[in-house]
Amino acid sequence: MKTVEANGRRYRWMSEPLVVVCVDGCEYDYLELLKAGTAYKADAVVPTFTNPNNLSIVTGVPPAVHGICGNYFYDREANAEVMMNDPKYLRAPTVLAAFADAGAKVAVVTAKDKLRKLLGHRLKGICFSTEKAAEATLAENGIENVVELVGMPVPSVYSAELSEFVFAAGVKLLETRRPDLMYLSTTDYVQHKCAPGSEGANAFYAMMDRYLAKLAALGALVALTADHGMNSKTRADGSPNVIYLQDLLDGWIGAGRARVILPITDPYVVHHGALGSFATVYLDESESELVRMRLADMEGIEAALHNAEACSRFELPPDRMGDLVVISTRHVVLGTSRARHDLSGLDAPLRSHGGLSEQTVPLLFSRDATIAEGRSLRNFDILDVALNCIPARAARKAEDERIRLG
Ligand SMILES: [Zn+2]
Repeated sequence: MKTVEANGRRYRWMSEPLVVVCVDGCEYDYLELLKAGTAYKADAVVPTFTNPNNLSIVTGVPPAVHGICGNYFYDREANAEVMMNDPKYLRAPTVLAAFADAGAKVAVVTAKDKLRKLLGHRLKGICFSTEKAAEATLAENGIENVVELVGMPVPSVYSAELSEFVFAAGVKLLETRRPDLMYLSTTDYVQHKCAPGSEGANAFYAMMDRYLAKLAALGALVALTADHGMNSKTRADGSPNVIYLQDLLDGWIGAGRARVILPITDPYVVHHGALGSFATVYLDESESELVRMRLADMEGIEAALHNAEACSRFELPPDRMGDLVVISTRHVVLGTSRARHDLSGLDAPLRSHGGLSEQTVPLLFSRDATIAEGRSLRNFDILDVALNCIPARAARKAEDERIRLG
């Protein structure tokens, strides 16, 4: 049987088109009707942010191996705070690229362009974002005339339609080009604004259901997970429940003696104001244990850990994390300085992610999977389960026939 190896894991060749969907910010509670196939709960990577988890899913390994541990980090070597969306920061090949190299037809569609270059790193195939769909070229994206193909106008970057375009493109690609392996990654605009059960959330998931059903009807095995969950992060009066770490540390040890980095930071912060439940702090070694202890004792702080402990517990690259890792509790977020967060764009009560409280995500398959008892699943096991733990179509047919004949 043909297999492909990537990052120490071996994957069987797909026996039907495999569509892997990463629903950004899909807290398990958003799903209620799970009929066909198999549904599991899995753990996302901490920090529960978009880029570290998307890259874990497509490489099959944690950030300690692939290197992407945030959307944003402090590059100690360059002494600069930079976005981590450049493929030069990626330390492992993707399973997608490995399959393409072995001859599979592979397609990747992502909502925001910030993920495109990482997901499509060294990928011989199709890779484009909704955001820049109109600019897709054969040379850069392996496809052109995307907007005509999908038959939907390019939506605003802050809209539910940005994700709908991803699903619509997936259906059109399956109909017209039938990729062997497709990765669809949405954006969490709706999840940041709408709690499970709300009208906005229900409309989004109904839309998603229709497209997933179409993908399955076209003969694809559909596998779905999320990069992280989502929780409300507000006080009783509805205002954001924020601990401004930089202000706090400036007060404790002197202005500018510590550098607080929020890896949630990215160019699209209107809907969350760059507030999440995970921060990393750079400070002098002589002060780190005292600061860590004071933080660990604070209400609203779930964990304050030294670099080594945090990196071993969460499988993170030590050279890209600060001296301390700070995680806030379920309904609390961490900021830098109050003055550095523009919350004027927040037109709904704050919902966000990043911490341990957003680690549980769904892991769903449109066909039954056989998973070893007691195995604890991660979202980045999705390719392993889809390819290695679900019987190939021919085997299923034979089994169905056996049952039919009694
Ligand atoms: Zn996300």
